[in-house]
Amino acid sequence: MASPKPIPGLIDITPYAGGESEIEGVERIIKLASNEGAFGPSPMVRAALQGSIGEYHRYPDGDCGKIRRAIADKYGFPMDNIMCGAGSDELIGLIARCYAAKGDEIICCAHGFAMYPIYARQVGADLVVAPETDITVDVDAVLARLTARTKVVFIANPNNPTGTYIPTAEVERLRAGLPGQVLLVLDSAYSEFVDRGDYTDGADLVAAGDNVVMLRTFSKIYGMGGLRLGWAYCPDLVADVINKVRSPFNVSYPAQIAGLAALEDDEFVARARAHNLEWRQWTTDQVRGLGLEVPDSVCNFVLVRFPDDAGRSAEDADQFLNSRGIITRRMAGYGLPDALRISIGLDDEMRAVVAALEEFTGRNSTE
Ligand SMILES: *Cc1c(COP(=O)(O)O)cnc(C)c1O
Repeated sequence: MASPKPIPGLIDITPYAGGESEIEGVERIIKLASNEGAFGPSPMVRAALQGSIGEYHRYPDGDCGKIRRAIADKYGFPMDNIMCGAGSDELIGLIARCYAAKGDEIICCAHGFAMYPIYARQVGADLVVAPETDITVDVDAVLARLTARTKVVFIANPNNPTGTYIPTAEVERLRAGLPGQVLLVLDSAYSEFVDRGDYTDGADLVAAGDNVVMLRTFSKIYGMGGLRLGWAYCPDLVADVINKVRSPFNVSYPAQIAGLAALEDDEFVARARAHNLEWRQWTTDQVRGLGLEVPDSVCNFVLVRFPDDAGRSAEDADQFLNSRGIITRRMAGYGLPDALRISIGLDDEMRAVVAALEEFTGRNSTE
């Protein structure tokens, strides 16, 4: 008998696999696999959520009015150009759906965020992968892959999982090299963690034209990944079309309450940022001291690269860390089979992961 068939291409998609959160037989888990923000949500967010539980039977504001207003005021953007989503992930999917279809091309980078290829396939577009140089976006490689069929370019800056970034001048060169009909999506999910003077989150480029979108999220520095809230700063026409295709209540009531509270707690963000800078540097130095390669990261995680030797590989390290109750992320799916990505967690969590790596390598980081 015939059976209903999904649209061609969908069956071939490998679903996104999030970080593990459990190890069988281990009670105390240290989870450093999903860049979730070391502190969890701010005390103001916790209080706002607790105080609003009695209203959870109410539908949320379908326009996200208050939170869009608050974002617009905080950053000085026009409110009409802010769109909210259930995580920036939803916005990535909506943009792919609105701007590319079968026969079109979407450009991503070799070690870029995994959701871009998944959405490209979902909408039936051809995925074009630009190689990177030193695990960093290569603007010339991206520009060289433009064709008449290119519709969208997705760049995470800084990038997950490499932790690297391209400076403002390179972002501007990329933008300048794109024909007007190509939409450039700058995913700035980790921008709050960057401490470099030559970095841009891309907001100026959004304001300067009509083919750049900047994405932001509450999942990383705000520690609200479980609530699902992200936003886009986008040109009028992009905001307009996203508004037509999104579902009417795409951002939940608790997510909106939490987001509003989070935006008021600047002290929390400053503390999370300072903690991250300190422990990212400490972790980088310690792990390098064990003879392992750690590229400079401007995010809330570090990439650690292992030799391809039996007993010393990334896979071996992953198993060893698991046996100590520590979960990090294997990177084979990102074209980096020799690497683990380790999120920056709390002080004792970072000490524990470094101690476990000392044990694994049989070295001492001060040797
Ligand atoms: C974590 C992450 C996101 C944000 O995801 P949410 O859907 O907002 O939780 C977006 N882009 C990149 C590159 C990320 O690493």
